[in-house]
Amino acid sequence: MLRLSELKPGERAIVTKVHGHGAFRKRVMEMGFVRGREVSCILNAPLQDPVKYALMGFELSLRRSEAEMIQVERVSDYHSAETRAEAADHISKNNETEQNGRLRSDKIINVALIGNPNCGKTSLFNIASGAREHTGNYAGVTVGAKAGTMHFKGYRFNIVDLPGTYSLSAYSPEELYVMRYLREETPDVIINVIDATNIERNLYLTTELIEMNRPMVIDLNMFDELKRANVKLDYESLGKMLGVPIIPTIASTGWGVEDLLDTVVKIYEMNHPYTKHIHVSTGPEIERAVSRLNKEFKTDESVDLHFSPRFLAIKFLEKDPEIEAQLRHHPKYKEWSAIREEENAKIEKALQEDTVSAISGDRYGFIQGALAETMEGSLARDEKTTKIIDAFVTNKLFGFPLFLCVMLLMFWATFQVGSYPMEWIESLVSWLSGIIGKTMQEGPLKDLILDGIIGGVGGVIVFLPNILILYAFISFMEDSGYMARVAFIMDKIMHRMGLHGKSFIPLVMGFGCNVPAIMSTRIIESRSSRLITILINPFMSCSARIPIYVLLVGAFFPKHGELVFFGLYALGVIVAVITARLLRKFWFKVDETPFVMELPPYRMPTLKATLRNMWSKAEQYLRKMGGLILVASIIIWALSYFPRYEEEQIPESYRTEILSEMPTATLSNSEGGEINEMILSEYQQGHSILGSIGKFIEPTVRPLGLDWKACVSLIAGAAAKEVVVSTLGVLYVGEDDEAMLSERLQTVSPVTGKAPFTPASALAFAVFVLIYFPCIATITAISRETGSWKYAAFSVVYNTALAWILAFLTYRIAILF
Ligand code: GDP
Ligand code: MG
Repeated sequence: MLRLSELKPGERAIVTKVHGHGAFRKRVMEMGFVRGREVSCILNAPLQDPVKYALMGFELSLRRSEAEMIQVERVSDYHSAETRAEAADHISKNNETEQNGRLRSDKIINVALIGNPNCGKTSLFNIASGAREHTGNYAGVTVGAKAGTMHFKGYRFNIVDLPGTYSLSAYSPEELYVMRYLREETPDVIINVIDATNIERNLYLTTELIEMNRPMVIDLNMFDELKRANVKLDYESLGKMLGVPIIPTIASTGWGVEDLLDTVVKIYEMNHPYTKHIHVSTGPEIERAVSRLNKEFKTDESVDLHFSPRFLAIKFLEKDPEIEAQLRHHPKYKEWSAIREEENAKIEKALQEDTVSAISGDRYGFIQGALAETMEGSLARDEKTTKIIDAFVTNKLFGFPLFLCVMLLMFWATFQVGSYPMEWIESLVSWLSGIIGKTMQEGPLKDLILDGIIGGVGGVIVFLPNILILYAFISFMEDSGYMARVAFIMDKIMHRMGLHGKSFIPLVMGFGCNVPAIMSTRIIESRSSRLITILINPFMSCSARIPIYVLLVGAFFPKHGELVFFGLYALGVIVAVITARLLRKFWFKVDETPFVMELPPYRMPTLKATLRNMWSKAEQYLRKMGGLILVASIIIWALSYFPRYEEEQIPESYRTEILSEMPTATLSNSEGGEINEMILSEYQQGHSILGSIGKFIEPTVRPLGLDWKACVSLIAGAAAKEVVVSTLGVLYVGEDDEAMLSERLQTVSPVTGKAPFTPASALAFAVFVLIYFPCIATITAISRETGSWKYAAFSVVYNTALAWILAFLTYRIAILF
């Protein structure tokens, strides 16, 4: 018996059987590995695992161990001509119920977007509702539902963008989510988005939706690519066969969307000519089993019929866990499952195949039959470019170095290219504080504006360009399809950490922001892999930490800044790797996650989409500045400003102590009045509310070469990591109003004769910031996504302890130089 894993690159074979069981097997079959399907081996990943296959004109990768589960025969050996062309006859034109009569007077239409991952749902959602949701050229970008509204020809559309799903069954959190959404929310019209370049596999989900018998329209998206491939698809006839209108669109430009919405309205108003309910008929054995159960469910009034009885029957026959859970407590459950066992046994005997694979085989048969009648030309997609690029990108020799270069380029651009616009904003900020310094009257208000607001917010806002550049890179990698390749070449390495290539995408996204990155771990089916990916995500240094690095590195390591910068990120990755291994070893047991990941064709991201992404990031950042960071800066300022002291209140002992430490240069160059003023402001800060707290905890950071102000900034960073910088900006007030924060951090204080930071302590500080507890938003995301505060607590305690140790080592080693 030949196994798929034995195929060499370039060889073709026909699938004869899928071994194994459970979720993996079902998933593999839904991806199209059904009997009689031709598959070819394309290439091996650099480390021989996973392997890339082509199937029905799309590419996907499987681990070698999984490919072993698929039994194949070489094309030449496969003679049992199992022509499935008759499948076209399968379409039992069952002019059954028209959409059940429903009259509405209100003009609100609830629309749900449902489709495979990466077919363009979010792009459509954005075009239609004017939102700026995240899109990306790989599976699993959208998590949870996003809702938006729009007005169109007198109707209000409530549109919901759902996560991508290959089928309506319940294994991964997303699929479960979509299923529950359909049951509980009952949208008025479903827009089933399908990717025209991948139509066969996309229609699988459609066949399930058809069984559900809900008002629906099919959006044939990526129509541009279909045209480019010179394929003629008679979508009108196909729509008539399916009983669902099909409207072609190009969601990335908006072409066809108006037609689509028009059709939604028609369906809603129930005056579309060819909306009817058909059955995707399966073979006679399965059909008999389904109709038997169907009758049971139809006649029993107590069955929760959020789903059509036929859909329930099929899912029940397939032992779908969600439907199982729904029916388990029904008094007749025993009776029904007896029927099921009986029918399943009959089916298996008659077909020599289990029910699940027979059903998915028949569904694909149906689809092929329908396409055979309506499609001309093969969908050998414009794959040349994809192949050529992949030859380099996933190459044994070039794959990793190329990825490293891309990462280096990303950090270099963020740091170096970003420094030009940063300087412009910097000079704007210092010009502003110069004006205020000169024109405003002395007093608390001036101090608030100058030290609190401009010192805090102004200190952070200058890093906007750096963050935008980083996001531009990440968004390009996501939209072009490179990210999916990276997951592919990284799979073997991730496997050594007890993880999975898929975990790599959330990790790279973590460089942007840990919160959406943690949410995107929902694409990972295995719970333990998902938990580990979540827990190591905070070590992927998020963009909010960029200001801190750029500030410290720019000030103290001007020569090889980008290397230090890159080194910090690399340290984060190393810590993540070690942590993942430790977690796998001591906390979670080993498990094998099936690796089925689609490799989408490369797509040139449109400028529009990229700019939209940038703008939404910039907007978010500015909002954060105007909100959280502004408030935090004012609070920190107030806590460090009050209570006020007069010169007479300073105890003599304090005076003498300060004077004894004061450098002689200051003593000889300044007048008595100036010295008194310096002592007062030193005393003032040290004895403010914040100063007292800070001094109390200062001993904990002393060994790292840090003072109480640095310590307070770190704690304030819990609100958001940018606050670390804004707090430094508020606390390290300089004599010179126009001096930038980076200068203030290096200026030797005339009072103590020391600068706030040295290169060694700056490095230790940066390391601490890299590793220590994540911000509140991330902590919340961890506890929400894992469903337990325990993991969030672990993250806080473990990360902080580790940060201290590493910062300590960094400091001790750095002062040797
Ligand atoms: P989702 O996963 O279904 O939400 O898909 P996305 O909206 O994130 O889109 C996936 C990718 O396909 C993105 O890179 C889009 O820019 C791209 N895309 C979406 N619609 C079209 C289209 O009609 N034509 C082409 N050529 N690309 C598209
Ligand atoms: Mg999406």
